[in-house]
Amino acid sequence: MQLEGIDRVELSHTPTPLEPMTRLSEALGGPRLWIKRDDCTGLASGGNKTRKLEYLLAEALELGADTVLTAGAVQSNHARQTAAAAARLGLDCQLLLEEAGAAGDADYAHSGNVLIDRLCRARVHLLPKDTDMEAALDTLANELRAEGKRPYAVPVGGSNARGALGYVRCAKELWEQSQNLGVDMDLVLHATGSAGTQAGLVAGFAGLGVEIPVLGVCVSRSATEQEDKVLTLARETLELLEVKAPLSRGRVRANGDYVGEGYGIPTAEMVAAVKLTARLEGILLDPVYTGKAMAGLIDLVQKSSFRETQNVVFLHTGGAVGLFAYRSSFDSIE
Ligand SMILES: *Cc1c(COP(=O)(O)O)cnc(C)c1O
Repeated sequence: MQLEGIDRVELSHTPTPLEPMTRLSEALGGPRLWIKRDDCTGLASGGNKTRKLEYLLAEALELGADTVLTAGAVQSNHARQTAAAAARLGLDCQLLLEEAGAAGDADYAHSGNVLIDRLCRARVHLLPKDTDMEAALDTLANELRAEGKRPYAVPVGGSNARGALGYVRCAKELWEQSQNLGVDMDLVLHATGSAGTQAGLVAGFAGLGVEIPVLGVCVSRSATEQEDKVLTLARETLELLEVKAPLSRGRVRANGDYVGEGYGIPTAEMVAAVKLTARLEGILLDPVYTGKAMAGLIDLVQKSSFRETQNVVFLHTGGAVGLFAYRSSFDSIE
């Protein structure tokens, strides 16, 4: 696996901790639960996009870019980490944000991630729901070029093969940490959206020659669509790493049972999972991704999908800043 030869600009605090969730494991009476703290990557409150941006923005710097642009929802954690990374590297940043989710809610429109985008001096363009965001990114890049700028467009979620390298690196880190702790990981579970995180983990474990199952809990698509998306990107990532061994479809698993009504729309199970994790572990999850992933984990444990001696690692991909944007979903806190 040719990871070391590929340029990376350091933006994160790694290795992030791998810690037991003792009280949550006890309360659920299931397997041993561990948490990989990628909410602690450090960049303007952290999250999984930081690892991807280390590879993407290294390329931007090599190409002599002066402006970074990307796209996402108004409360995009990816856009926020991109804005912070650009600030750190002295690059201009422009964000295309789609008005998805809780339209008309003042917290959603102004607090959470979008507040931090503005603090980091990103220029924010709001676009109506259902805009073709990739096409809008192309258009903006062309406009910037016409103005004499040197734009670098980061894809939605930072999810291309280069971005996924961040999670190849994380797979290696997690493997080493688990070896040092003497923990056999039976499953790694996390929220999956634009697919780069899962694709990178799957490619990383495959490249290391270890068979650790990775289960993506969907936040926007059905399981089959998500598996296709992850598999395609994992194969592209292995190609970039010059790994020749084929990747079978069976290595990619997704669960679409916890999406609810759609991306960014709260579910009762998400609210319960966010509260339980805060109360038992003092760990903050988020309403859009990790809250739904944890709701999935809790449900799977309750359905006895695991044995007591198994080790399940929950990859915390960040996003707790979004709690402030979704304050009204947590109004009835008992
Ligand atoms: C983007 C994001 C994810 C999903 O990761 P992908 O690589 O897009 O699949 C999960 N959790 C949080 C908090 C995110 O911001």
